[in-house]
Amino acid sequence: ARLSEDEILADPVAKIAAVGGARHPSIPLPKDLFAPGHRNSSGLDLSDVATLEATVAAVRQPLARAAGGEDDVAIVTTAVSRAHTAFPTWSRTPVDERAACLERLADLLEAHRDRLMAICVQEAFKTIPDAIGEVREAADFCRYYAGEARSRLRAVELPGPTGERNMLHIEGRGVWATIAPWNFPLAIFLGQTVAALVAGNTVVAKPAPQTPEIARVAVELAHQAGVPRDALILVPGGPQVGAALTADVRIAGVAFTGSTATAKRIARTLVADDDRPIVPLIAETGGINAMIVDSTALPEQVVADVVTSSFRSAGQRCSALRLLLVQADVAETVIEMLTGAMDTLRLGDPADPATDVGPVIDRASYDKLMAYRASVADRTVKTLPAPAEGLFVPPTLVRIDRIEDLDREWFGPILHVATWEAGKLEETIARVNAKGYGLTMGLHSRIARAAEVTEAAAAVGNLYINRSMIGAVVGSQPFGGEGLSGTGPKAGGPHYLYRFCAERAVSVDT
Ligand code: GLU
Repeated sequence: ARLSEDEILADPVAKIAAVGGARHPSIPLPKDLFAPGHRNSSGLDLSDVATLEATVAAVRQPLARAAGGEDDVAIVTTAVSRAHTAFPTWSRTPVDERAACLERLADLLEAHRDRLMAICVQEAFKTIPDAIGEVREAADFCRYYAGEARSRLRAVELPGPTGERNMLHIEGRGVWATIAPWNFPLAIFLGQTVAALVAGNTVVAKPAPQTPEIARVAVELAHQAGVPRDALILVPGGPQVGAALTADVRIAGVAFTGSTATAKRIARTLVADDDRPIVPLIAETGGINAMIVDSTALPEQVVADVVTSSFRSAGQRCSALRLLLVQADVAETVIEMLTGAMDTLRLGDPADPATDVGPVIDRASYDKLMAYRASVADRTVKTLPAPAEGLFVPPTLVRIDRIEDLDREWFGPILHVATWEAGKLEETIARVNAKGYGLTMGLHSRIARAAEVTEAAAAVGNLYINRSMIGAVVGSQPFGGEGLSGTGPKAGGPHYLYRFCAERAVSVDT
């Protein structure tokens, strides 16, 4: 069935259903999964999950999912026009009202959490713990940015000589494009979007082609929460939709999370046209994230944190550990314990609460990772058997001789290990920095001086000492990197909203 543009914009995923994509049934989950006040994935109490019912196990792999990859660029122009028309009214809506929309949205996310979790499992193959973390983090972003907007986005009076009044106003910039990744299809999709909205912008939001349904539901809930329909418009699709969106000269800013290559492509598009206004790009991209372990570290804690950081979420987090650097004196002990711990990981159906590692996102990702895994078979210290069916990439540990031997991000559960010599901590950090990425780094050491040295030398946005390297908590661990890993400002941090705003100074001689 051919749908009109209006129908598509009213319900963008309807077009997907119309071409034969599946809709996702809602799966009820027990309410006690969500202890009140519990924040996102870090600190998750897995004992809750053991109470999950058979309803969850009914979701099976491989799953039919909405085919959101279709490139319908025609809807982009219409969407931007509508968001452009909606901007003056929304930007003049008092900040407290905009913040209240976000707070109502957080409540709605919690009210609909079972359905949202189910879609996360079905569409993004999230494990149950990750799906819980996803919904919590999305609600955290809404409440956090609402509070930040209420306290920060206010006009301030600035000093001046007698007879002069100086005001600094802070307001929205116009229509923002938000472009989200599939690995946090609700939390990052909404985080970027609600930040732009609460700052007084209207938004055209593009989800990843793999995860349009969760975005559709999120946008529907945002509208229910009071965000005007034309202030937030969803345009599902693939790279061509993204390209059309960023090429539209009416776009006043882009918030993007995804690959470094795509971020650079967007940056080039934004400056390509001489007549186009200069607009901000907020990019959060990947990393070759290292954890450095010295001989004073507690091996049991190291191993637990390494497993969490590199294999949970099937390694599909930007923050995930890719390169483990162990001081040579203790390397063999740590590696042996780590390979033992890998044996306990359960690969399987993501809807089974006991699953540690689910499938990777899609066939293209699976093929790339499995080809790489095969190419490093002779250097593989440990891998697990792959289940016969499904897109499972087994957790794999690969030994490399030199830090420089790992020169790209493998976005899956493949960890590399190398050693470093005592006394060479600073040099080791410098060699990691030299890769040019700068997202997360970990250190395990009981020497205070080692922590100081690492803090001073590590060129990363998020440094984690004596703990895991994933699961940044909104408002406590503002997240985002530097260099090839992104532009900042940090998501979930106190400076994020400002980048979405324009400032206007008004001076009046009285
Ligand atoms: N914020 C997530 C974490 O701390 C990672 C976000 C990403 O993968 O883009 O694990």
